[in-house]
Amino acid sequence: MLKPLNLSPNGPVVSRLVYGTWRLLADPALATPQAIARRLELCVDLGITTLDTAEIYGGYDVEERIGQALALAPHLKQKLQIITKFGIYVPHPRHPDRKVAFYDASAERVVKSTEKSLRLLGVDALDVLLVHRPDWFTAAQDTAQGLEQVISAGKVRYAGVSNYTVSQFDLLQSCLSQPLVTNQVELNLLAMGAMYDGTLDQCQQLRIHPMAWSPLGGGRLLNSDDPAAVRVRALCQSLRETYGGASVSTVAHAWVMAHPSGCVPVIGTNKEDRLRELVAASDLKMDRRDWYALWEAAQGHKIP
Ligand code: NAP
Repeated sequence: MLKPLNLSPNGPVVSRLVYGTWRLLADPALATPQAIARRLELCVDLGITTLDTAEIYGGYDVEERIGQALALAPHLKQKLQIITKFGIYVPHPRHPDRKVAFYDASAERVVKSTEKSLRLLGVDALDVLLVHRPDWFTAAQDTAQGLEQVISAGKVRYAGVSNYTVSQFDLLQSCLSQPLVTNQVELNLLAMGAMYDGTLDQCQQLRIHPMAWSPLGGGRLLNSDDPAAVRVRALCQSLRETYGGASVSTVAHAWVMAHPSGCVPVIGTNKEDRLRELVAASDLKMDRRDWYALWEAAQGHKIP
């Protein structure tokens, strides 16, 4: 069973692994609200009580499907923490006037998207609302005003960001009376930028847990011919015995979780057996030497 943690001091309690829903509708096995409800039940049973979704996921359909599933199993609403994101708008048949993709994190959009997410998900409040991507066209003050408004109305419990740089985080925080509770960023053995650009350092300084999206590089760690992925897989195979038969996926998640910022992986698999395996191995403690050996395998050179 997974142990929950506080995403930030006095912030929301989330599960140590978060269920990502970006690819939810890509799996024919999850085509019905009943199947999604069963999947959410399983997650709760396994201790994965936090759900990560977004307005844009599944061509703007995932939130609605989750809402339909929750309507079938309303008791889950008390057991799940829902994290959603807003702010990415791409051309879509439902919006024929939208000819180009754009970001919008204006106050007006914060309020509109929050209302929409609440309606589609069928819940009274969102546990955490994240700005999906920094919107260069909106003043931080404007975004902050929208976030303050939905929080003070009780529609959103906590706010955070995703894919923000350190300075973008600082700027938005300087306009807010509420502390931002996380920065959800890409982190995996094939994408280590957040370790070098100060993002994970800032999280440690603020005592907030970053959320790590695509912990398997979107599956590339498992199935691509990229030389870095091939080297990492080979090393994981040779570490298998050391870690009690752990799979490449398990070791890759453990590598992310071992970072001292306490990264919370947002897991992407739709397969039940893979979910169970990740939970079963979630307390795998990675040895310092193995962590660095994986870094070297991924980078293709020795540490400096
Ligand atoms: P991921 O775990 O890196 O990749 C998941 C993919 O890997 C799935 O297609 C999965 O297929 C495959 N996979 C998993 N285990 C495998 C195995 N043992 N062998 C072969 N393939 C395997 O995660 P992700 O889906 O890219 O991202 C996870 C979540 O992060 C998303 O759902 C979303 O919530 C969040 N996210 C956030 C942002 C952001 O900007 N904030 C961006 C991207 C994603 P199966 O389903 O078949 O296992």
